[in-house]
Amino acid sequence: MARDREFDLIVVGGGIAGGAAALRAAQYLLRVLWIRGDKRTAKRSRGLWVANIDNMIGVHEGIVRKKVLKLLRGGEYQAARKLLADAPRMAVSSRDIIENTVERIEAEFADYVEVLDLAADGARWDGDGGAFVVRCGDAEHRGAALVLATGVMDRQPSILKTKGGEARDEVKWIYPWANREDILYCIRCEGHLTVIGRAAVIGYSEAAAQLAMMLQERYGSACCLLTNGAEPEWSEESRRVLEAYGIGVHRDRITDLTGDGDGMRALQLENGEAVEVRFALVALGLYRVYNDLARQLGAELADPGKPEEERHVLIDRRGETSVPGLFAVGDMATRADEPVMKQVYTAQEYAVRAIDSIDHRRRRRMRAAKLGTPG
Ligand SMILES: Cc1cc2nc3c(=O)[nH]c(=O)nc-3n(C[C@H](O)[C@H](O)[C@H](O)COP(=O)(O)OP(=O)(O)OC[C@H]3O[C@@H](n4cnc5c(N)ncnc54)[C@H](O)[C@@H]3O)c2cc1C
Repeated sequence: MARDREFDLIVVGGGIAGGAAALRAAQYLLRVLWIRGDKRTAKRSRGLWVANIDNMIGVHEGIVRKKVLKLLRGGEYQAARKLLADAPRMAVSSRDIIENTVERIEAEFADYVEVLDLAADGARWDGDGGAFVVRCGDAEHRGAALVLATGVMDRQPSILKTKGGEARDEVKWIYPWANREDILYCIRCEGHLTVIGRAAVIGYSEAAAQLAMMLQERYGSACCLLTNGAEPEWSEESRRVLEAYGIGVHRDRITDLTGDGDGMRALQLENGEAVEVRFALVALGLYRVYNDLARQLGAELADPGKPEEERHVLIDRRGETSVPGLFAVGDMATRADEPVMKQVYTAQEYAVRAIDSIDHRRRRRMRAAKLGTPG
């Protein structure tokens, strides 16, 4: 095995949380290895689904500049101008933000940050060397601290669609609609879109019922719950609230999604019914929390009673796990004292708190060394 040199910290994960951690650490002039993941892990990235972030401020102007330059490529000034003038706003995606972060780090902090487009396959604590050791293929990398930002993936509804005369029960039928923001996943981030049209909630849990009520109360947009073949699990009280709001419950399997260039029009059910909606909010919980590295290092998990691979990593207010020096940030992490937060801005906040802690400890050691006292 090749043994690499040691970094102040290693960041694993190439999404918003990992990017925010790598950039902040670079700005503190810490020596960072940023392991961003590869094509395989990119498929798990929630961030890559986000085509349009419109609920946060502070997007770096470099992103807009790049988009305008792209529009102007080839000297088509008038066409580019028309595109810009006609659009009510310019959508900025997570992918745009991450690309911009990598470009900034490579241009401004190349002496401090090494970027690896690889997946981290394993992690262990080397007690003798006092370092975390992260394995990528045949190479091992050592860091005094480790920040995990490997994200989560939502559970998708399986659609019983007939194609070419054959019924195929698969989640992939949903993806084109998810990419167009007709299928939604986050009420805090995307719920406001439903002001323009009715929305169904796909789910059968208490959380699904609560989301349907919230859509109704905030936007007047919830028309029904689709359990997609499952038995409802919500409480009697929720059943009464749903009924009072006139939010219908359909228990048949979903067999197709239909629409046109203007968006989704209906969800087709197995009983032949077409539920006319502009949006559907998926509320089926998580398929995976990518917590493998945290588990290998013995970090405590939240959500007791759930399967290991669906449990968030428990962190304190600094973003630190139960393993000293091991931090978890972004969607994969949760605190005991607040609800699970899964947004771009919370991913950034968790990341910044973690880097502040790592920097604080490093500076404390520097001071102690200066004074010749124990660190
Ligand atoms: C459809 C949709 C729309 C959303 N819209 C908004 C919005 O408008 N506003 C908002 O605030 N939030 C929005 N969110 C939430 C937001 O996208 C997430 O909160 C945010 O992306 C979380 O960032 P993250 O870095 O924790 O995880 P992710 O973005 O999922 O990144 C995880 C990263 O880890 C990498 N990785 C995984 N395993 C490994 C490994 N072993 N080694 C190396 N790398 C690995 C992956 O490749 C990926 O780069 C939306 C989410 C969805 C699904």
